[in-house]
Amino acid sequence: MTDSLATVQTIDDLRLAVREARLAGKKIGCVPTMGALHDGHISLVEAARRETDFVVVTIFVNPTQFGPNEDLAKYPRPLEADLDKCRAAGVDLVFNPDVESVYPSGDATFVEVPGLSEVLEGAHRPGHFRGVTTIVLKLFNMVLPDVAFFGQKDYQQQLLIRHLVDDLNVAVEIRTCPTIREPDGLAMSSRNAYLSPEERQTALALSQALKIAEQSLCDERQSPVEARVRMIEHLTSIPGLVLDYATVADAYSLKELDEASGEMVALIAARVGTTRLIDNLPISLRLPV
Ligand code: AMP
Repeated sequence: MTDSLATVQTIDDLRLAVREARLAGKKIGCVPTMGALHDGHISLVEAARRETDFVVVTIFVNPTQFGPNEDLAKYPRPLEADLDKCRAAGVDLVFNPDVESVYPSGDATFVEVPGLSEVLEGAHRPGHFRGVTTIVLKLFNMVLPDVAFFGQKDYQQQLLIRHLVDDLNVAVEIRTCPTIREPDGLAMSSRNAYLSPEERQTALALSQALKIAEQSLCDERQSPVEARVRMIEHLTSIPGLVLDYATVADAYSLKELDEASGEMVALIAARVGTTRLIDNLPISLRLPV
């Protein structure tokens, strides 16, 4: 483990540090985050450490991906604790810029991936993915990593980033790492900190519903239509949970499926109190040979 964590706030200092690492022959890994780090984030750092020689974690609560009525102001920003976690995880460099250096006045350019960004999360959070793809491309241009690491937890996001990188020929390899869960199944999320103990119990319904879909599709060989109905039945039976969507979709196009295909993903978004949670489970059908 290394304890030589450096932190930089400006793009110039970031570039200098990364250039130095590259000149030393190091392969650069990047883990973009909004901070409030948990074991899900740290699993991305560990993947980055396995595959690259110089791990940059970016911590930036990106205003352009929050809607006007979302939680930008109250989003947790425990910087000191985050730096301790980065140090313990062997991160080499933390980049935590301020909003003005990322979006200086007059900044006007966005990138968007039409189609895929308009369904599911995109339909419920207009403009969200435009903010995500723009900040990720900006961070790629600032850090210039060889490899960047994202979580399967934000399934639609990692698909969109893969599209962005392919479509614009960005010279970075994208890795998607499995969702890290609490022992009881709850997907780790910085937003879990908002949940009261009672809400935290209610939130278990998301991972339970995903397991129900998996059982329906894989063990009982039911159709995605039936799996969807069973997820929705479970989720709507839970007091205190308001469902945004629960669906079974093609793992690549995210088109809702009526008939089973080889690579699927069950996706859920729901609100528990004032906290909006998302979760998903990729489901591969072991087709008979
Ligand atoms: P965020 O700080 O929420 O923007 O997340 C930063 C990165 O961590 C994204 O690539 C997320 O998909 C990933 N991430 C968040 N939660 C988890 C989790 N429970 N397991 C794995 N990756 C995660």
